[in-house]
Amino acid sequence: MAETLKPDICVIGGGSGGLSVAAAAAALGVPTVLIEKHKMGGDCLNTGCVPSKALLAAAKRAEAARSAAPFGVTAPGIDVDFGKVHDHVRRTIAAIAPNDSVERFTALGVRVIKGHAKFKDRRTVVVGDAYEIRARRFVIATGSTPALPPIPGLDEGPYLTNESVFDLTERPDRLIVIGAGPIGLEMAQAFHRLGSAVTVLEAAAPLAKDDPECAAIVLDQLEREGVAIRSGVKVVRIKHLSGSVAVTFEGAGGEETIEGRYLLVAAGRKPTTDGLDLEAAGIKYDRSGVFVNKKLKTANRRVYAIGDAAAGQLQFTHAANYHAGLVIRNALFRLPVKVNNDMVPWVTYTEPELAQAGLTEEQARQRKLKMRILRWPYHDNDRAQAERETHGHIKVITTRKGRILGATIVGAQAGELIAMWTLAIAQGLNIQNLTGIVLPYPTLSEIGKRAAIDFFTPKLTSPWLRRIIAWLRIFG
Ligand SMILES: Cc1cc2nc3c(=O)[nH]c(=O)nc-3n(C[C@H](O)[C@H](O)[C@H](O)COP(=O)(O)OP(=O)(O)OC[C@H]3O[C@@H](n4cnc5c(N)ncnc54)[C@H](O)[C@@H]3O)c2cc1C
Repeated sequence: MAETLKPDICVIGGGSGGLSVAAAAAALGVPTVLIEKHKMGGDCLNTGCVPSKALLAAAKRAEAARSAAPFGVTAPGIDVDFGKVHDHVRRTIAAIAPNDSVERFTALGVRVIKGHAKFKDRRTVVVGDAYEIRARRFVIATGSTPALPPIPGLDEGPYLTNESVFDLTERPDRLIVIGAGPIGLEMAQAFHRLGSAVTVLEAAAPLAKDDPECAAIVLDQLEREGVAIRSGVKVVRIKHLSGSVAVTFEGAGGEETIEGRYLLVAAGRKPTTDGLDLEAAGIKYDRSGVFVNKKLKTANRRVYAIGDAAAGQLQFTHAANYHAGLVIRNALFRLPVKVNNDMVPWVTYTEPELAQAGLTEEQARQRKLKMRILRWPYHDNDRAQAERETHGHIKVITTRKGRILGATIVGAQAGELIAMWTLAIAQGLNIQNLTGIVLPYPTLSEIGKRAAIDFFTPKLTSPWLRRIIAWLRIFG
């Protein structure tokens, strides 16, 4: 007979979002059940952020060694041992895994159940025949899986996705990547730098969600390094041959076929709703995920959905963590909450990195906001010169009165530099707040301050103001 549990909160999915809800609820002394069917840590730890960043880090080392000559440092005969790269990726996951483990969560006071959860009715979740959970609130945090485009022949042989690519112990000599989103391009650059010949095929525009002007700088760098990016092409056929794969695509010049040793599909994500029996709980969903309102509540008021599984949300680990915080506030403290995607920054971890906080220029235009665009290039920054990292710029979007609406940074360490702008946007700061701060010299963060100072340039009518700006430019 099934064991019946009656916690306050039952979380389905032990990935980024689910673990955050469970940890916070347990810390508050709330009886919590967490159900995970596969690996604790979900996509991010096992097949997403962590292994991809570990692979990129190895690739960055290889590239740094190769491009050290202008510093007067030469490292002849750079060798990449892909087996050891794989070990580094696995060791990174292993180092982080204890934070997400059953043992840690059990010690925090969470009742962790390993198994597949599904709804039995509007207020009951079951795990096989073993458990019946009747919780006050449920949180669906089931994440997503790779979306597989319906390409004839794809299923007739092996191909890689994020779920298998980090298991490779041998370097693929020729890799074809379908999809030029952040995941496809990060993997393309990583494998290329580690010695693979890489071709990326994209039906639409690469990095389509990002500011096109800044995305172009990333694409240009990848192409200069030798990654072949073919955009506006539709893959029409895949043929698995012995030891290779032939991919046929259609573009402006007609049909073309290329051959690779491996094929990586990185063509978007599919929210995980299968097997949850959402209908039994009166929860509405479609291919885009579980429908939620601004409080992240589903059509069943007892049930929230967060992270990659929730429709219309940004699919990032920090977005799932943000959702978790909102659910805790709403479910446990009954505080009003409203999810705001403008608060969620994102980063593509290629080199150069591409980071976004708040609105892009295009989003601000769509909202018909009257704006100012401020820029500052990396090459006018002393630290960037010292590091030979002069490629890229910052672009800041403000209202006419200077309220900061968004920032895009493309260049070295953009993912770190965006933090200041995320804070500025979250706090509703004015650009003036950033001209007044003292930043250490020489740092890349000065690029942001320089862009902020630029806000006042057109207003230089009075000699007094001109003097202040000149002073800020020299000493600021
Ligand atoms: C290659 C790659 C790189 C990425 N890099 C980044 C990055 O650099 N930064 C970033 O912010 N994001 C990145 N992401 C996205 C990030 O991994 C996801 O947004 C994040 O993991 C979503 O968290 P989640 O909690 O919604 O889902 P997940 O972390 O996927 O967790 C969902 C969990 O639910 C479990 N589950 C599903 N169904 C059931 C069920 N019925 N019963 C029990 N358990 C179930 C699954 O097994 C899984 O463990 C990357 C993704 C990929 C694929």
